[in-house]
Amino acid sequence: MYKDDTIAAVSTPPGEGGIGIVRVSGPQAETIGLGLFRFQRGTAFRSHVLHYGTVIDPATGLLIDEAMAVLMRAPRSYTCEDLLEIHCHGGMLVVEQVLAAALAGGARLADPGEFTRRAFVNGRIDLVQAEAVIDIIQARTDASLQLAQRQREGALSGRLAEIVRSLTRSLAMVEAYIDFPEEDIGEADAGGMRRAVVAALAEIEQLLARFEEGRILREGVSVLIVGKPNAGKSSLLNRLLNENRAIVTHIPGTTRDIIEETINLSGLAVRLLDTAGIRHTEDLVEREGINRALEKIPQADLVVFVVDGSRPFGEEDRFILDAIGSAPVVVARNKSDLPVVIELPPEMHRLPQVSMSAASGEGVDALRALIRSTFLRGEALDSREFVAISRARHRDALVSACAALRHALAESGGDLRLETLAIDLRESLFALGQVTGETTTDDLLDIIFSSFCIGK
Ligand code: GDP
Ligand code: ZN
Repeated sequence: MYKDDTIAAVSTPPGEGGIGIVRVSGPQAETIGLGLFRFQRGTAFRSHVLHYGTVIDPATGLLIDEAMAVLMRAPRSYTCEDLLEIHCHGGMLVVEQVLAAALAGGARLADPGEFTRRAFVNGRIDLVQAEAVIDIIQARTDASLQLAQRQREGALSGRLAEIVRSLTRSLAMVEAYIDFPEEDIGEADAGGMRRAVVAALAEIEQLLARFEEGRILREGVSVLIVGKPNAGKSSLLNRLLNENRAIVTHIPGTTRDIIEETINLSGLAVRLLDTAGIRHTEDLVEREGINRALEKIPQADLVVFVVDGSRPFGEEDRFILDAIGSAPVVVARNKSDLPVVIELPPEMHRLPQVSMSAASGEGVDALRALIRSTFLRGEALDSREFVAISRARHRDALVSACAALRHALAESGGDLRLETLAIDLRESLFALGQVTGETTTDDLLDIIFSSFCIGK
């Protein structure tokens, strides 16, 4: 349901900062602004002009803060509505008081993501672009940021819109023939339509094929480091961290015994899990640490099995290998700077592996490349053209669209049954509309926008 009341929220993160921004959007934004803002010069807002002045509490007349205020009149604003921003000092109490003044002036506290939702409802952006805004805020690597920015700019929307246009043309033609049953569908029209459906199907399949890469880029992957005590896990972790530590936007999942750190492998965010929290004190504790690590294997996207190349493959290595079972794994034959003693059992020969030294750094690049190539085909990320769907929601809708189009093709093979064909085309258009938000329910919108923060 679309609401046309006026909303307000603090748009800067909680806590103290240089500046705090309160945003007000809706038909009353200007009136509310005039109520709480005293211009140093003049008495009125000029659209898109930053004014200097003070914020006062309209109820008491007391000064709240010196501030800058800008009014962006509809439709040229983030929400396409009248949008007021008050930039004050970034104190927690100050921004709360400015917000309270806006609420007292008639605004309602915004729901999470409601500014962006209004941009969507008012048609400034579609749903995949709105989702891209979340991805931009949460991006941890250059590549995931680039992917999100392209999605926000409309690269994915544009691809989908082309498919929708072509299928809509076909549907219109089918419906015209249905409306004039005395006309038989000509071979040229039938062939053209079939080609349009085949092309749409190919486009959608290409987007689906890139889903995994898109998802991986957006969410990152988890990599569990396992190996017997002294194999060199912590040394490897430290080397990777020193050289590739990523900007971490969430609180790391560090527990007493498992540490989690994120590294950036040429655009791929990798959460490394290591049992380094348990150190080489007594044997019992160390063994407990190994068990903790092995329990995490099912949750990891990839296991890095570190073996000590300078020692024979032993009972503990065997135990770990069995625990890995058929989980995706790469083997790091560590300590290549020392004489090689280890002989890997035959079943390990076919596993992807590198010889490396955490001490000297030799082979670590190869390990990084091996980890990355397990998830991503390299060229895709560097390309400016890379457009991918990145959410299960997109995938599910595109899978439905594909199913409907395949059905349409099967139907159009022999005698064209126009009614069925029309149904298939409508179904595929409906599914595509779910991705961009044209045919999305309020419930789904609630879910999507609730993952935003308040004020966005
Ligand atoms: P962890 O128990 O698996 O975490 O192993 P550590 O990273 O703590 O390393 C155990 C010991 O092996 C330490 O003394 C490290 O300095 C040493 N070590 C780790 N990697 C290498 C390597 O590549 N070459 C050599 N020569 N020693 C290493
Ligand atoms: Zn360790």
